Amino acid sequence: MTREKELIKQNEAYKHYRSLNRFLREQFGEKVYKLALDGGFTCPTRDGSKGTGGCTFCAGGSGDFAIPVGDKVSEAIEMAKAVVADKGARKFIAYYQSYTGTYAPIERLRNLYTETIRHPDIAALSIGTRPDCLEDEVVTLLKELNKEKPVWIELGLQTIHEKTALSIRRGYSLEVYDDAVRRLRATGISVIVHMIIGLPGETAEMIRQTAAYIGRSGVQGIKFQLLHVLEGTALAEEYRAGAFEVLSLDAYIRILEECIESIPQEMVVHRLTGDGTKRRLIAPRWSADKKRVLNEINRAFERDRIRQGKRN
Ligand code: SF4
Repeated sequence: MTREKELIKQNEAYKHYRSLNRFLREQFGEKVYKLALDGGFTCPTRDGSKGTGGCTFCAGGSGDFAIPVGDKVSEAIEMAKAVVADKGARKFIAYYQSYTGTYAPIERLRNLYTETIRHPDIAALSIGTRPDCLEDEVVTLLKELNKEKPVWIELGLQTIHEKTALSIRRGYSLEVYDDAVRRLRATGISVIVHMIIGLPGETAEMIRQTAAYIGRSGVQGIKFQLLHVLEGTALAEEYRAGAFEVLSLDAYIRILEECIESIPQEMVVHRLTGDGTKRRLIAPRWSADKKRVLNEINRAFERDRIRQGKRN
């Protein structure tokens, strides 16, 4: 694609929402790719401190493709770079996406993240975690790292509705989220919040309320994730027992449109749907064809003249 065509495509996308690709180009001035890394963490809802089964929808911390790091940070970064070698990027975001990336002794976190952020090819550090795993000493460490290169914290909120939060075994209240965001933002760290569209028992309006709440909470980015029912999860048992139905593609798009229009214009949309592992996917099956899903979303946004922030 020529540079001109590429710019037209980006502008088209921005007509509807502020995409991550566009933001990365604005921020870094060139292509930047994420390297999926696994720091060997667990979660308080898995190791017994708050529970043992994990969140009901979770099949393993969304780190299926992540490279295990251990003590060999540089080696893992090189391996992760090899995975995206065909993309032609020179700068990378180190993304610790598996499980709870701040749930470990502070010295382990300091060593791991300091070595990662100082790697010459790393432009930013992104850590997926939970709001209840951000003690003050962790936030202080993140603040120090953020002085070297940008640090992004990704929080898996999923919903603002307490009844749903209990049923999915999230393990913390909305106040804990509010407090974590306030403390992170006080240090200047960027915050990205994950929410799930299609959780059992939630109406379209409840889902829109979650998006609007995240939009008002002062964070910089949002990731929309379709609810995937994955093999081996508690949710899969509920689904097989007929406890709830998954969304159709049309229903998903309609709700997504309302969410996009309910968040502020300046918020970066990191994801429109999500990447469930096809190997474990039980439902909805239509989500396995990601290319088609994204095409349908973009077509609908154009048809319905969707504008991020319109209802904000
Ligand atoms: S969704 Fe996140 S917090 Fe919940 S069990 Fe999975 S990795 Fe842990």
